[in-house]
Amino acid sequence: MKLATPEHAAPQDAAARKSIAPVICYPVETLPKPDLAAYRAARAGATKSDEVIVPPRDGRCFHVKAGQFFRISSVEGPQVGDLNLWSADFSERFYSGKTRALHGTHLSTGDRFWSSFPTLRPMATIVDDSLDWYGIDADGGSVHDVIGTRCDPYTHALLSDGAQYHHCCHSNLTRALVQETGMALTEAERHVHDVFNIFMCTGFTRDTGQYFMKASPVRPGDYMDIFAEIDLVGALSACPGGDCSAEHSSDTAACYPLKVEIFTPEAPPSGWVSPARNRYCGTHGL
Ligand SMILES: [Zn+2]
Repeated sequence: MKLATPEHAAPQDAAARKSIAPVICYPVETLPKPDLAAYRAARAGATKSDEVIVPPRDGRCFHVKAGQFFRISSVEGPQVGDLNLWSADFSERFYSGKTRALHGTHLSTGDRFWSSFPTLRPMATIVDDSLDWYGIDADGGSVHDVIGTRCDPYTHALLSDGAQYHHCCHSNLTRALVQETGMALTEAERHVHDVFNIFMCTGFTRDTGQYFMKASPVRPGDYMDIFAEIDLVGALSACPGGDCSAEHSSDTAACYPLKVEIFTPEAPPSGWVSPARNRYCGTHGL
């Protein structure tokens, strides 16, 4: 957090140093572009093949084959979700930090969910986002972030004098994985990673640079459609924070279910091939 009153005087050329134009860290012009028109044509003819309801303050897993779509929807009331994605064999996981570096702090149509090293490839692609109208608000807030990590009982214990709470997203995702796969609790917990915060409205305060949240603009019927680029296992938690307008890590907020639907197209998108693993040779100079 930035000090309100700095301890060091600014140098004489401070203004000049600060006025330099920023440069985008990762220009994405060379990234392969998803063919959204082809994806949407496939989605238009797709039929629903499965549905999972995630109960409030709980988590559930779902399975999506490469070439299928999944839709995450708000039902009953405004609700934020925390999403984890793995390859079907759990050798790859969603890499929130690199996805943020490539696509920015908040994701929408055309952005992709990148996998961890050493594969670093698209696991999934956002095909439609009913909240894309929100843009970036006057507070610098936006929807669907890859900033936050997930609410978890460890940070809660740290900030609340050792208090115990078992329905943070981290625990919901861990329980879901145990229940779905039969993994031991300790193994399942190691697979849980930084999330995609679907429907959550977040940003950073301008004065202190602190992570903030505000009531999600999501309403029942809002959705995001996502295309699976590889065989996936997903886990989604309906955050105990509900619309995340006030607090999480408690049973205080109004909390609603989330719906996950799997759609199978008649044929894969025209010209689509499942992405290959990253082309780095992997020797690291040795
Ligand atoms: Zn949460």
